[in-house]
Amino acid sequence: MSRESKIIRILLSIAAVLLFILLAMGAYLLFSRPDFTMQDLSGEPSSSEQTDVPAEPVPEPEPEPESEPAPEPEPVPEPEPEPEPEPEPEPDPEPEPEPEPEPVIPPEQLEAAIAEADLLAAGYDYPAARVLLQELEGWETDPQITARLEEYDAAEAALKPYPNMSTITHVFFHSLIADNARAFDGDSDSVGYNMYMTTISEFEAILEILYKKGYVLVSPYDVAYEVTNEDGSVSFRYGEILLPEGKTPFMMSQDDVNYYGYMIGSTDGMNEIPARPDPTGDGFAHRIIIGEDGLPTCEYMQPDGTVVTGDYDLVPILNRFIAEHPDFSYRGARAILAFTGYEGVLGYRTKPSYETALGSEAYAAEVEAAAFVADTLRQQGWDIASHSYGHINYGDRGAERVAADADKWEATVEPILGETDILIYPHGSDIEGLVPYTFNNAKFAALYEDGFRYYFTVDSSVYFHDLGDVYFRGGRRNLDGYRMWHHPYMLEDLYAIEDVWDPDRPTPVASIG
Ligand SMILES: [Zn+2]
Repeated sequence: MSRESKIIRILLSIAAVLLFILLAMGAYLLFSRPDFTMQDLSGEPSSSEQTDVPAEPVPEPEPEPESEPAPEPEPVPEPEPEPEPEPEPEPDPEPEPEPEPEPVIPPEQLEAAIAEADLLAAGYDYPAARVLLQELEGWETDPQITARLEEYDAAEAALKPYPNMSTITHVFFHSLIADNARAFDGDSDSVGYNMYMTTISEFEAILEILYKKGYVLVSPYDVAYEVTNEDGSVSFRYGEILLPEGKTPFMMSQDDVNYYGYMIGSTDGMNEIPARPDPTGDGFAHRIIIGEDGLPTCEYMQPDGTVVTGDYDLVPILNRFIAEHPDFSYRGARAILAFTGYEGVLGYRTKPSYETALGSEAYAAEVEAAAFVADTLRQQGWDIASHSYGHINYGDRGAERVAADADKWEATVEPILGETDILIYPHGSDIEGLVPYTFNNAKFAALYEDGFRYYFTVDSSVYFHDLGDVYFRGGRRNLDGYRMWHHPYMLEDLYAIEDVWDPDRPTPVASIG
């Protein structure tokens, strides 16, 4: 070996030792670092081995302060909408506590309400029947009520609008004869009673026949009424009457519900002395009163002078018939009652000039009693009409006389009976022929100005309707002795005379004029 080779070997050995020392120092520095991971060796990401250094989240708190300002604005809007949907599910648990059905409807109250609702339903007033039952607290869970409501729905669904509104007939009566022997006793008034009156037995027979034929009593306000147009003007139109198939609406009225003196006693009340019933009366009721049951009834003086109370005229008789046959009346309708003023109304001596004879206190009592009866009648479905003040002939009189008479009714009768828009012409004497009314007719202008919108006359045809722009006019058929005796064929659509005619009537029945 040469000397040079020895030197090289020595240098290489020194270099090797230095290299080793350098490597050893590097290794020490590397492994002693606090955040050493295998990633530092492999160069690949690996988090699983961080478990070796769990105690070193020291640097982590540093990013926390950084993220804190960020989440703060975010939660502000978010938590707000969240609590809102939460209160929504709360109402559910509220109805859940179902102690409400527990307050069961008291049986007596339930029974009374159902009876009343059934009565309304029988008169085709299903909406009112429903409202009545649904006013009871707890109706939703009562099986009887829910069953009833289903029945009403089914029955109402079977109703149809009456298709022939313009053909609805209208019949009328005067005071009914309660005692045939007294009415047909041969005195001077007998002839007139035989012509223009109907006996109680005839009236009851007519009701039975009409009912069996499917007739249903309606109010003129069901037949036609005034509507306000978009431009503010008014016009009349037919109403809608909902009835089962096979039913036929009709109207009824009674004229002169005044119980005039000549019918009930020996004097008339034409002058300043009011008439009173006495035993010489002709067999008619003399007054309508309200009975203890709240229903109208009649006072009647018997030949021995005693006064009895009961069904002595149309009002209580029709009421009783409808109570027995509630489907005979559409939605509570009753007849139209028409009044003059010259002897007072309803049998009460309310003509103002009677005050002198009666004294202020007694007169005020008459007025108060009559007003109470009229108000009760209205509440129970009866319609009130004017029959003029003095029973004058509106067709023959001049416009000024007609206007003066209508004004007198308004001044002396309306305060007792209340306002009405129905006028029933005395003697059936219309202010115009068959042509429609216009305001060029001074009588119509005056009557319209007084508030009248419904005008009824007498007409023997089955129906006469005049549906004007601003009024409704109709004919009425007298079902009295005159019509039955002289024109039985005119009543064929209603009944055969032999099924109604009272054998107590004297014959022949006189002719008019
Ligand atoms: Zn009359």
